[in-house]
Amino acid sequence: MYVGHFAIGVAIKSVSPKTPTLPIMLGVGFMDIVDGLLIVAGVDRVTPNLNSGPYLFFDLTFIDWDHSLLMAIVLSLVWAAVFWRDKRTAVIASLAVFSHFLADWPIHNHDLALYPYSEAHLGYGLWERLGAKSWLLEGGFVLVLIAFAEWRNRKRGASYKWVALLLALLYIQMSPWLSPMKSVAQLSEPGAHLVHGALVTIGFLLPGLILTWLVNRAERQAA
Ligand SMILES: [Zn+2]
Repeated sequence: MYVGHFAIGVAIKSVSPKTPTLPIMLGVGFMDIVDGLLIVAGVDRVTPNLNSGPYLFFDLTFIDWDHSLLMAIVLSLVWAAVFWRDKRTAVIASLAVFSHFLADWPIHNHDLALYPYSEAHLGYGLWERLGAKSWLLEGGFVLVLIAFAEWRNRKRGASYKWVALLLALLYIQMSPWLSPMKSVAQLSEPGAHLVHGALVTIGFLLPGLILTWLVNRAERQAA
């Protein structure tokens, strides 16, 4: 899942508008920010596969150190520890991180281990089962969450319309036809996995920061 993670962050923020935005909007992508770094470092392994799903074009062969159930819990606690001075922020930040695992569960192709090197893997595999339709499904999920956030925000006189616009652009860019990962998957190694890792980290870090700025701007205008 890609844009869906950011949409979950937007929904969380609308439920808890007093919580600082950064812990939420970087929290929802934290597992993938780490994932990209571990791929570049050679700890995680990804394998180009043009049939793996609608926009990733890679099999996530070994991502146990950031996308296993145990590590999702550990990373949630690590992210919470960064904000421990404010208990409420710490709790919401950790929920944002863990939401990433829950959202990946239905769509990932059976690559989410229970713990590093465990035989058992989770992931219902909607990417592989539905192909491009799973991208549409993610779009529907994002729409529902944005509509929910706008309904919550209207009560406070806030509107995340620029946030929604950026999410729409990210969604289109990550479509089966425009995803940069398709060309990345056709690079020769080590280029393929290095560029893949870099794009995953940047793809969550940069939009996470811009969304934080846009959300904060919308909140200031409402106040
Ligand atoms: Zn992920």
